[in-house]
Amino acid sequence: MTRVVILGGGAAGMAAAVFASEAGLSVDLYEQNEKLGKKLFITGKGRCNFTNVCTPEEFLENTVSNRKFLYSAINGFTPSDTMNFFRGLGLAVKEERGRRAFPESDHSSDVIRALERRMKKNGVKVHLNTKLSGWEELKSKADIDDNTPVILACGGLSYPSTGATGSGYAFARELGLGVTDMRPALVPLETAEAYIPKLQGLSLKNCTLTVKKGKKTLYTAFGEMLFTHFGISGPLALSASSYIGRELEKEPLPAEVDLKPALTGEMLDARLVREFEMNINRRFKNSLSALFPAKLVPVIVELSGIDPEKNVNAVSRKERESFGSLIKAFPFTLTALRPYTEAVITQGGIKVKEINPKTFEAKNRPNVYFIGEELDVDALTGGYNLQIAWSTAYAAVQGILEKEKKQHGISDSD
Ligand SMILES: Cc1cc2nc3c(=O)[nH]c(=O)nc-3n(C[C@H](O)[C@H](O)[C@H](O)COP(=O)(O)OP(=O)(O)OC[C@H]3O[C@@H](n4cnc5c(N)ncnc54)[C@H](O)[C@@H]3O)c2cc1C
Repeated sequence: MTRVVILGGGAAGMAAAVFASEAGLSVDLYEQNEKLGKKLFITGKGRCNFTNVCTPEEFLENTVSNRKFLYSAINGFTPSDTMNFFRGLGLAVKEERGRRAFPESDHSSDVIRALERRMKKNGVKVHLNTKLSGWEELKSKADIDDNTPVILACGGLSYPSTGATGSGYAFARELGLGVTDMRPALVPLETAEAYIPKLQGLSLKNCTLTVKKGKKTLYTAFGEMLFTHFGISGPLALSASSYIGRELEKEPLPAEVDLKPALTGEMLDARLVREFEMNINRRFKNSLSALFPAKLVPVIVELSGIDPEKNVNAVSRKERESFGSLIKAFPFTLTALRPYTEAVITQGGIKVKEINPKTFEAKNRPNVYFIGEELDVDALTGGYNLQIAWSTAYAAVQGILEKEKKQHGISDSD
């Protein structure tokens, strides 16, 4: 029976162990931690958003880096295959808003247990507390030769406490593969202005965040964001980080929030006129409570340059119009990505041009396969990153099986 060695007992490594053992291969899975799936356990705030039940095309639209490279893998093992896979492992699953899939129980531990149960049933040999740090150590401890298929599934650099220490990159380099620059992604962003920390805790539900570099728009999207003591977080900030990270590493970037994206400039001006009429005897600073959350009022009043003590009926048309412009483009400067300890994912990794996109085998190194987050691929939040783990694991195992068939002279029609 062909033996497969898998390094890394995270999402991709465990899935590969299940796929390979289901196909009748003998599997040894090595994991440095005392248990499997430490990162999987904290995914989706402990609920594990394990895929997004979208089409492969939609999946690729939500992939940020090297989407073409994932074309074959996502079509070979689609999000609906993932749903069936987990159902087949006895996991009750459900779909929520935005087609995000979770275990019915809302416990990520049930996803891990389902994978572990099947590994046990199939006789996968799991070696915990076993960190293998280099090719020679792997060869001797796992007792392999150049013909043994090895799947490296060591993850990235985000949340290092889960075991993400970058071993996969070291293995790749040792074997002569290239590794790109890397940075935290799906990560909060730091800002320069002193008024941003004053907004700490303020969550904006319907706003548009835009980040520019010169005249070029690097990112613009509608959604939710949160102000923090260091800058901004929440879905919009996290997504923005994936698109602007590379540029932000070079220089600070101007950003703005449209606080009233549903209103055109004219509609907003009419709304301000109405609001000022309703507050005719009030001071400017006391006239805005219907327009903004309380925390935002003093900050936006300060930025407007309008005397806060001024009566609203004394606010000039010019002042009102420039206040409208401020509401449509509330400005601040992004200065840095937060560190890996706060990042959902690593952007960058093992260069994909050196990996066969159908089988995930290293082009220069037969029988060595790289899967999951250690590759230079990343996607937005919503279950897409775990789908990368499942699809690449499946493709690698299929690659091994195909090779086996060829070696034994078996054709599909046999
Ligand atoms: C807080 C958080 C929430 C997330 N939520 C979601 C979500 O809801 N949905 C989603 O799609 N994605 C989510 N992600 C991303 C998702 O967790 C990753 O995409 C996924 O875990 C990557 O799987 P992987 O198997 O490649 O790496 P990992 O899951 O990190 O597994 C790698 C494993 O390899 C082991 N290892 C590394 N080096 C060695 C070595 N030398 N020897 C032995 N073992 C080694 C590690 O200990 C680790 O267990 C989240 C990430 C974080 C940090």
